[in-house]
Amino acid sequence: MSGLRVAVVGSGPAGVYAAAALARAGDVSVDVLDRLPAPYGLVRYGVAPDHVKMKAVDGALRKVLEDPAVRFLGNVDVGTDLTLADLHRCYDGIVFATGAAVDRRLGVPGEDLPGSFSATDFVAWYSGHPDAQLDRFTLHARHVVVIGVGNVAVDVARVLTKTAAALAPTDVPGHVLDVLGASAVTDVTMVGRRGPAHARFTTKELRELGEIAGADVVVDPADLVLSPAEQEAVDGDRTLRANLEVLRGWAARTPTGAPRRLFLRFWLRPVEVLGTGAVTGLRTERAGLVDGRLVGTGETVDLPAQMVLRSVGYRVVPPVGLPLDETTGTVPHDAGRVLRDGRPVPGVYVAGWLKRGPTGVIGTNKPDGTETARSLLADAPTLPRAPERDPDAIVALLRERRVRAVGWSGWQAIDAAEQALGAARDCARVKIADRGTLLSTAFPELSAEADTPSR
Ligand code: NAP
Repeated sequence: MSGLRVAVVGSGPAGVYAAAALARAGDVSVDVLDRLPAPYGLVRYGVAPDHVKMKAVDGALRKVLEDPAVRFLGNVDVGTDLTLADLHRCYDGIVFATGAAVDRRLGVPGEDLPGSFSATDFVAWYSGHPDAQLDRFTLHARHVVVIGVGNVAVDVARVLTKTAAALAPTDVPGHVLDVLGASAVTDVTMVGRRGPAHARFTTKELRELGEIAGADVVVDPADLVLSPAEQEAVDGDRTLRANLEVLRGWAARTPTGAPRRLFLRFWLRPVEVLGTGAVTGLRTERAGLVDGRLVGTGETVDLPAQMVLRSVGYRVVPPVGLPLDETTGTVPHDAGRVLRDGRPVPGVYVAGWLKRGPTGVIGTNKPDGTETARSLLADAPTLPRAPERDPDAIVALLRERRVRAVGWSGWQAIDAAEQALGAARDCARVKIADRGTLLSTAFPELSAEADTPSR
């Protein structure tokens, strides 16, 4: 019998690192499937465009997808185009690494008013995600409130505060750059419901906010007064200590009168997104901790805003009916082996955010994906073998269902087209956002045919 056949669903860092560890084992062939025509998941569609160094991780991921033991199949939606049963028919093992793309809800009135968006939507739009509506954001707002003080909040606040000129050398799509260039935004306010000693951002990311040309960072020194318990926590944690040092430096600065201002506010709990018909502000309540519990003081603070971005974390929606542990918000697993009612589901594994929740940095996915691959390889001798062993059977099945899988050559055509767009803007790449254009670039013959791709 031929070697092990594995499907990895999701071509983000967790999936690709799992594929790398599987391919390294030898005598394993891996298909990496992704519902998007382009690979790299969060590296391409989540890492901010100006985080060029972190984006360069795609070079390492590309090497894996170019390994002869690995095949990329984009534009294939597992759950829609293929069922779990289809995968079991063609693969001995299946690793799900589809992430946690859905935003958490805030649960306050006005959350769905026009002008109130999830940060996920904004990130998808500026990253040129094919699911993002091209004209979703206009940036006519002068004041923007960003709810949350994690690294995603820092990303969106930074992109809103930077000038279009500063973002032009990045891969942001042309239509995004046009909107950023015409942006009316002058004030961006990040709001933490707890204090600076509880903020989730990391120091390197925080520090970048103070380096934005044409913007003043404003911090109220009163927000930086710590309780004895907070002081103790800060003393014992290098990141918190460094964060506080950065914030104190800003609190001591005199604003220069720069055209844009970025405020960091703490201890304000969102109560309501204000407005009738459209957002006019965010109502917050001053809050504090009592016995570790966040308690409102009754004092209301209204922040004017014509746009609110909710950046309060992501949540896992398990694919193809995999179980969800409501307490951890993840798919229950044992070192990557999916557990249903405490028992391993034969041949089914998870990696990345599905496995550990929306935490960690890109690099966290390497040990995570490797651990899952190791579990699968250890189980291999006892895994029931898939009946269909022809590697082309899955492509034929997709064709039958009128789904055109984007293979590596299709992605290379997209890659080349994006680099050509980049050359015209004097940068390495400009992303193509529109799904139809991605597909007609991957399959040039289709633009001449009446037969258009399925999605
Ligand atoms: P996060 O780190 O979990 O931060 C979520 C923020 O939302 C916290 O400040 C949290 O406050 C706040 N929040 C949650 N519920 C709230 C509510 N009901 N009202 C007000 N505030 C609320 O999530 P994230 O920023 O989405 O980041 C996800 C992961 O990606 C993290 O591991 C992050 O480090 C990573 N990431 C890394 C980078 C980078 O390395 N450059 C960039 C982007 C993302 P509480 O703490 O009070 O709950």
